[in-house]
Amino acid sequence: METILLLAHTESDGTLAKPGREALHVAAMLHKASTGSLVVGLIGESVQTAANSIAACPATKYFGVSGAEFKQARYATDAAAAEAICKAAQASIVFAPATSRWNRVLAGVAQRLGGHVDTHVTGVTEAGGKPAINRWYYRQRMEASISRTQRPWFMLVDVGSQPACECGAGTATVESVTVNLTDVGKRTAVIGVREPKADAQTIRPDAQLLFVTGAGWTKKQADGQTHVPEAEQIILGFLKATRASLGSSKSLVDLGGEGQAVLPFLSHLNQIGQTGSTPRHAKGLSTCCHGEEPHTVGWRFINERRAISLDPNCGWARGKADVLYVADAFKVIAKVNELLAKG
Ligand SMILES: Cc1cc2nc3c(=O)[nH]c(=O)nc-3n(C[C@H](O)[C@H](O)[C@H](O)COP(=O)(O)OP(=O)(O)OC[C@H]3O[C@@H](n4cnc5c(N)ncnc54)[C@H](O)[C@@H]3O)c2cc1C
Repeated sequence: METILLLAHTESDGTLAKPGREALHVAAMLHKASTGSLVVGLIGESVQTAANSIAACPATKYFGVSGAEFKQARYATDAAAAEAICKAAQASIVFAPATSRWNRVLAGVAQRLGGHVDTHVTGVTEAGGKPAINRWYYRQRMEASISRTQRPWFMLVDVGSQPACECGAGTATVESVTVNLTDVGKRTAVIGVREPKADAQTIRPDAQLLFVTGAGWTKKQADGQTHVPEAEQIILGFLKATRASLGSSKSLVDLGGEGQAVLPFLSHLNQIGQTGSTPRHAKGLSTCCHGEEPHTVGWRFINERRAISLDPNCGWARGKADVLYVADAFKVIAKVNELLAKG
């Protein structure tokens, strides 16, 4: 019988963030489909608030490693805490959210415990008493189902790939697990966080809408002129009003490197597709993009897809969009901004 462990870290305010609840959803699904038991392990400065927030989940035990040393992400302390919890819980299957904190640590913990680890897990099934996971390969073109006999089996669940567990709150009894830390293990310290200002941060994984901009925004328009400053104002106005996440075609982000007029708030981090990222959002709106079949792969995980393009024969729009507006994106988005401003 498997012991399924949800391993999560708390936030600086002691809460459990959405990625932790998403991994809990997967762990609870496997628990429901199998005869295994479900337990929870939490690591952070404090863990009681997080444990209470999921107290109504089907877990039978809660393990916690807490204290000031576990507030910050640090390989040595995180790995030691994860190892101690896995041992205390006698976990055979471990699900953790693929946050930057766990991505760095779990392979090492698997090695210490003689286990195996899989990354980019996007689903779990159970057949004939054997759990199997799903993950994508070759830039999301091929989906594989993988089963392993080695235990413990660690799995990093892709953030945004699952619904968050909706289990209710209550009062959880957390069994405290002791970790013996050496001074060497505590020598790395986070001395500050540097991040862009809120309005300069255009990549928002939690946004409902992915707004994709293409090279058309910088191309000559019907009057024979380019209108880059106007494009910048329209796009930023839309992002400000909707809090959408900003994606871009490769052509548009590459233009900067080719010395052409380009939108300064875009970087290669915004690029979606085969050689870009694969964001997951409920809705997507592509503007001024032609796109091409392999590069619309990035849209696979967008549920409802719409496009605004001047070209009615555009392969992307014909092949992939649920709704196509054959129209001038400058006019459409300016009008949308006007309506949004009226509230
Ligand atoms: C190895 C390789 C990997 C690649 N990886 C990626 C990738 O990961 N992601 C990616 O995006 N691309 C990728 N590409 C590039 C890809 O093939 C396309 O060239 C690119 O996506 C096209 O970008 P675009 O649609 O912005 O620009 P364009 O092809 O120039 O299209 C611009 C579009 O804007 C429209 N337009 C112009 N003005 C307006 C207006 N006012 N209103 C509405 N529409 C207007 C035009 O009709 C046109 O359809 C890759 C290419 C290669 C070779």
